[in-house]
Amino acid sequence: MPERDTVSWNAMIAGYAKNGLADQALALYWERWSSGLRQDKYLVASVISACAGLLDLEQGKTIHASAIKIGLLSDAFVESALVDMYAKCRCIEDAQQVFKKMSKRDVVSWTAMISGYSCCGNVVDARQLFDKMPERNVFSWNAMVGGYAQNGHGEEAVRLWRQMQSTSIKMNNVTFVGVLSACASLAVLEQGRQIQGLVIRSGFVSDVVVGSALLDMYSKCGSVESARQHFEEMPQRDLISWNSMITSYAQNGYGKEALQIFEQMLQVGMKANHITFIGVLSGCNHAGLVEEGCRYFDSMSRDYFVTPIIEHYSCMVDILGRAGHLDKALDLIKNMPFEPNSTVWGALLGACRVHGNTKLGKQVAECLFKLEPENPGPYVLLSNIYSAAGMWEDAAKIRKFMKERGVNTKPAYSWIEVNNKVHIFYVGDRSNPDREEIYATLERLATEMKLAGYIPDINFVLHDVEEEYKEHLLLYHSEKLAVAFGLIRTPPGTPIRIFKNLRVCGDCHTAIKLISTIAGREIVVRDAIRFHHFREGSCSCGDYW
Ligand code: ZN
Ligand code: ZN
Repeated sequence: MPERDTVSWNAMIAGYAKNGLADQALALYWERWSSGLRQDKYLVASVISACAGLLDLEQGKTIHASAIKIGLLSDAFVESALVDMYAKCRCIEDAQQVFKKMSKRDVVSWTAMISGYSCCGNVVDARQLFDKMPERNVFSWNAMVGGYAQNGHGEEAVRLWRQMQSTSIKMNNVTFVGVLSACASLAVLEQGRQIQGLVIRSGFVSDVVVGSALLDMYSKCGSVESARQHFEEMPQRDLISWNSMITSYAQNGYGKEALQIFEQMLQVGMKANHITFIGVLSGCNHAGLVEEGCRYFDSMSRDYFVTPIIEHYSCMVDILGRAGHLDKALDLIKNMPFEPNSTVWGALLGACRVHGNTKLGKQVAECLFKLEPENPGPYVLLSNIYSAAGMWEDAAKIRKFMKERGVNTKPAYSWIEVNNKVHIFYVGDRSNPDREEIYATLERLATEMKLAGYIPDINFVLHDVEEEYKEHLLLYHSEKLAVAFGLIRTPPGTPIRIFKNLRVCGDCHTAIKLISTIAGREIVVRDAIRFHHFREGSCSCGDYW
């Protein structure tokens, strides 16, 4: 252009900002700024949103200061952009200050504040604002539903989403992603299926992001068949969908299938990234494919140009440890280009438990006590390693040490979804209305299990939590109660899906294997670490967890 005026500069800068080229927008802005030409509210608002896109708080603050100087601060456009910028940069207090002083608050700035609070994990303040809003659009609902889902308030997310259904607001793909991720974390398969129905009716079935959220939901609910079926039916697949399918198989213990999908993905010309390889390696791990795991780990940077990050090392430690190569696993940790974190040491400690290595177990646990003194997991694991080796005194010492340090164990609980309702069980729980029938079912199963050779393993009385200490409670562990409830309340022959907040205990693992045969049911247990698919007396994890 031979001659440029305010409008042409603004149009170019805003054009960059709106199209995700925030860097270019800001570079051009500073060029114009040094030439001393007049700035208007549209220009300032668009460069502030460019800073928001880059999460560049420093530049944002500089532009905020210059906006004050030229008297543009009380403009609604600029204020709204500032609230959004500060909220996105997680400077919630600065966002609040601008928001409070705003001359005219619009739905955009209200929503920005809600997202800001949710990003900082403060769903209470987010909800307060949400309830106070004079009007809400789809973005405001999405911010709140998504905020609940991301912060582990799945039930609230689903409840609010149901409320949204009764409004006239049209849901978009982000709405479905939010509520589906809530269903995934709650592991409520029935509700997830109903939402899929609505996804189809609302015309989002070919949306690749919603598709991946559905896949993830099925996978986390332990229904890998539905995940696969959905995957096959997806009209379009991107890297996220392929990765979700690989991870789904891997998490559910179907290592060979995970590798098949990986090979298929390469065949269609999709490029693997680091998430793909976490899926591939954990698939090898969960299925005990040691050689394959080592091969993929060695080739990932050479053949696929993906540099291993600490998560990949952690998978490898798990793979080697599982196969009993504890020394190799330790060497790998010592030679890796990162400081080992708690996940890596945790993987090795788990392997020490499986292979009963008390000496290495002690060393590894001590590293973990330093890294995460508050985490009860390593104390419990080390104490279990000792008791399994008959070293009762050392086990008791660890328990005492844990108490002295004030480390608290979380109470174990399991849950199951039946008819859209989630039923929660604690050890020895008698609060369920069907308790008589649940306990009678367990007694009957215990007799049959004993006939099949089951001996209650009192080693695991020491597992997990204090409440689960006593031997007579072994039969009433939360996961057994949930399984019994499932047997009573779901049609014969259908799979039972239960979920536990901690690791499944060894005795329950043995018992559930037998129950799957006695009752002729597939039983799926998702615990804190992995999935167990029990079928005809054996488990997909191959007794390694
Ligand atoms: Zn148990
Ligand atoms: Zn298992």
